[in-house]
Amino acid sequence: MSSVPAPVITVVNDKAKISPVNSKERPFPLEWTRNIGIAAHIDAGKTTTTERILFYSGAVHKMGEVHEGTTVTDWMEQERERGITITAAAISCAWNASWGPWKGIKQRINIIDTPGHVDFTAEVERSLRVLDGAVAVFCAVAGVQPQSETVWRQANKYKVPRIAFINKMDRTGADFFRAVSEMREKLKANAHPIFLPIGKEENFTGLIDLVQNLAYSFEENPNDQLGLNPTTMPIPEEMLDLAKEYRDKLIEAVSDFDDTIAEKYLGGAEITTPELMLAVRKATISLKFTGVVPGSAFKKKGVQRLLDCVVNYLPNPIDVPPMFGQDSDGKEVAAIVDDKAKMAGLAFKLWNDPFVGRLVFFRVYTGILNKGTAVYNPRTRRSERVSRLVLMRAIEREEIEKAYSGDICAVVGVKDVITGDTLCDDDFDIRLEPPSFPEPVISMSIEPNTKGDQEKMGTALQRLVAEDPTLRVKTDPDTGQTILAGMGELHLDIIRDRMKREFKVEATAGKPQIAYRETITKLAEAEGKFIRQSGGKGQYGHVVVKIEPNQKGKGVEVVNEIVGGSIPKEFIKPATEGILEGCNNGVVAGYPVVDAIIRIVDGSFHEVDSSELAFKMAGIFGFKEAMKKANPILLEPIMGVEVTTPEEYQGDLMGDINRRRGQIQGMENKNGACIINAFVPLELLFGYVTDIRSLSKGRASAGITPSHFEQVPNSLLAKIVETSSKAPART
Ligand code: GDP
Repeated sequence: MSSVPAPVITVVNDKAKISPVNSKERPFPLEWTRNIGIAAHIDAGKTTTTERILFYSGAVHKMGEVHEGTTVTDWMEQERERGITITAAAISCAWNASWGPWKGIKQRINIIDTPGHVDFTAEVERSLRVLDGAVAVFCAVAGVQPQSETVWRQANKYKVPRIAFINKMDRTGADFFRAVSEMREKLKANAHPIFLPIGKEENFTGLIDLVQNLAYSFEENPNDQLGLNPTTMPIPEEMLDLAKEYRDKLIEAVSDFDDTIAEKYLGGAEITTPELMLAVRKATISLKFTGVVPGSAFKKKGVQRLLDCVVNYLPNPIDVPPMFGQDSDGKEVAAIVDDKAKMAGLAFKLWNDPFVGRLVFFRVYTGILNKGTAVYNPRTRRSERVSRLVLMRAIEREEIEKAYSGDICAVVGVKDVITGDTLCDDDFDIRLEPPSFPEPVISMSIEPNTKGDQEKMGTALQRLVAEDPTLRVKTDPDTGQTILAGMGELHLDIIRDRMKREFKVEATAGKPQIAYRETITKLAEAEGKFIRQSGGKGQYGHVVVKIEPNQKGKGVEVVNEIVGGSIPKEFIKPATEGILEGCNNGVVAGYPVVDAIIRIVDGSFHEVDSSELAFKMAGIFGFKEAMKKANPILLEPIMGVEVTTPEEYQGDLMGDINRRRGQIQGMENKNGACIINAFVPLELLFGYVTDIRSLSKGRASAGITPSHFEQVPNSLLAKIVETSSKAPART
């Protein structure tokens, strides 16, 4: 599909050679770039791993200082004081692989931040769209935890090739092979070690590279803390059998993806390192295989080898399929990696940098983005000038003139932009498909502690909403209260905390409310009229609408099907706005409407009396009438709950889930612990974590993730409708 062919890697004289395929004008070919994410369950070691990666790669041009006698740890401390950027949305670093086809050529690795907490599912999804590959970090003791599963499934959805890093091999209880089998069982991943650990816990002293068929020692050369001259050694005698067993398994696993290997494997011939390397690379990029690497980021063991793997096995931007968007007629348009094409890219994160100010993190999918030029935003239909382009390094911000297709950069100067916006050349009709963000499940009113802070709070929330599409803010029309809606109590707590830390606004929140939704279940037609004819200029608006259920998750779509001018063009827009306004408050209990298609099919107008306002009102009325006839229902958020408990409390906890209208989906016993998976309505989950602690003497824990919306049972409907008509907060 790509007009730039993927780089050709061939094996010549037992060496893998790469033929560069890029335009000469680039400072370095596209295949020298890896856009990766580091995805992990909270606490698995994402920060430490990222910090180590930056240290090793950043250290390359800091060697002088190290030679001058500054110890490595001191150097890291200084970096920390100078504000090492490990939490930015994207940081660029460079790695020179110790072996493989790119050996000797520094590869640019852009690390895109993927948040670890489930309340930020949308943020994870958004960043996954931007990356070409990922490192999934797991803890060697805890193995595959509930949230790792969520992130893994999302990475599957967005087709992100992965390498797994089993971190914390130095900790008591670390078990590499158990973690690999958990990846296979729980994540259904075709996971195979590409390295084996030598020893574990405090005796974790080295790695065996199954592809190169050699071992690395962490002990032989303690002075080489930068890992630039890895100490290799033959595979220890006592591990030869195990290494052979796992190398054979690896060859078998990847032989499906490479004919050369398959033939040799079947014929019993020796397979060379470059051949196996290429096969592992192909298998990884095909998404059907995940190589697993053990290590300890904290003890600085294995991170350099992980970086070699990023370079050798994860795809560059040309290895992956192009990004697709839509033109204004809804037709699919590809954004193919090509520097000569028109420019289009995606704003994937907004960020306030203490040194540079407001940055828009941007991935160029096609064409070249030039500093000083104007970019068009199809959402706002406006162009804005890019005043500066910045590459975020670990410790500095590098000003650049151009960002090429496949690059990630930060844009300065573009103001009217929100996360998920496309920015493109103004003659390029493309809108890169916006990520599908989940509906918020919870809302609460929020009020500044000091009356005078009202305006400051407004500014803060405006900024936070632009950064985080799962966060919504509105003003309750009845009470004037500000209502925040998001993905969970914790999500909204963190927003309040950010308001305090970053914007210095302290606020108090009301009781959390469930964010119900409404939808319809059958097709209906109705008309809306707004006609006033009492003296002077009258009002005349009249629309006929058809409403029908839309696919789940598609939201509300309004389609104009007027032919022959029964409603003049200029009144279609206000009628549409009226319909959309009507959708904010459904007819069941006043909650927002989702997943409906509303077609404007007919109507009439009056030469003198028709106005935009009259058509807007007609739109609202028409929509409400149609919805009433379309068998409307109320939907409630259902959460996926995973409880981990000692077996003795299993019965009590299951009974408790049943009492909460929960549906048990599965149960599994492992090493004396029981894991229960269930769907439970959010309505019955307030205080759940505290309740199960008291049911289990503090030993059970739960992970809760938004899953889907379901119809509220009829028996409960009346109660909810009644309470909601009293409650002010409805978002
Ligand atoms: P994150 O929440 O995934 O970003 O995890 P962090 O990198 O902050 O690590 C969580 C905790 O685990 C911290 O206390 C780290 O020092 C510790 N940690 C991270 N990596 C390792 C490791 O390889 N070994 C050990 N023993 N501890 C680690």
